[in-house]
Amino acid sequence: MPLDTSADLVNAILASASRSLAGKPLQQASPRSGTPAARPARRGSGPVAAAYATVSTTAEVLHHPAARESLLTEVERRRAARFRHEASRLDFVAAHLLVRLCAARSLGVAADDIELAQYCDECEEHGHGRPYVPGRHDVQVSLSHTRGVVAAAAGPAAVGVDVELLGRRSVAPSVLEQVLTQRELRVSGRSRDPQGVFMRQWVRKEALVKVGRTSRATMREVDLSGLPPAPAGSGTSVQRSRFEGLHVLDLADKRRGALASVVSAVPVLLTGEVRPPVPLSGR
Ligand SMILES: [Zn+2]
Repeated sequence: MPLDTSADLVNAILASASRSLAGKPLQQASPRSGTPAARPARRGSGPVAAAYATVSTTAEVLHHPAARESLLTEVERRRAARFRHEASRLDFVAAHLLVRLCAARSLGVAADDIELAQYCDECEEHGHGRPYVPGRHDVQVSLSHTRGVVAAAAGPAAVGVDVELLGRRSVAPSVLEQVLTQRELRVSGRSRDPQGVFMRQWVRKEALVKVGRTSRATMREVDLSGLPPAPAGSGTSVQRSRFEGLHVLDLADKRRGALASVVSAVPVLLTGEVRPPVPLSGR
């Protein structure tokens, strides 16, 4: 059963990105029965101890007045310019803007005040890899983009987000075996929609990689078969669960065609969509 409708998701991270965080969270899904409530704890009158995550279309982000390409750093602009396809370049730009808006909201500052940098642990090089906000240890960020859809998250603890297209169905069996545990393979094999089961576990594991819990090389050892299956139903559905002390938020957004998961040590608030929504045609 879907826990949220798309109407529940309509709130305004971007509209409020430059405002302070004084207000309460705009959206809070009902926890599944038996799942610990994801209501964030407050530390005195300080900021909400939760991560903010947003999934949007690239077009929605780029149409928002606060999402100005001029916010990007020189490094980001050079990377963006290397994309051969304009649509891919725009996906990159939108994700890098959206993560600033999430970080701004998490810190209660303006998006202009958020600098974004990246560092790759594998290459030990700057300019790509794990994103971070230099000089701000009180916020951690994550971003993801695919064709026409972007996701970003920011919070006071490590956070990871991954987004893929809903309904992408082109996964070879050899790939399944590189990603899923034996138990997960059995569950997916019994499913009427094995590729759908795979994609949900894939976005969860990508989010776990980004939060530092596993790696591409070891993700097949992380068994998520105990988590509830993907949220189903028409429209938009959100599901919360826990995995080894982490909060897991799964989103299936049919209108945007997005499948996303967010993981964090703190509860995750899905902070809705960019306003105003724009038609998805043209992609
Ligand atoms: Zn690298």
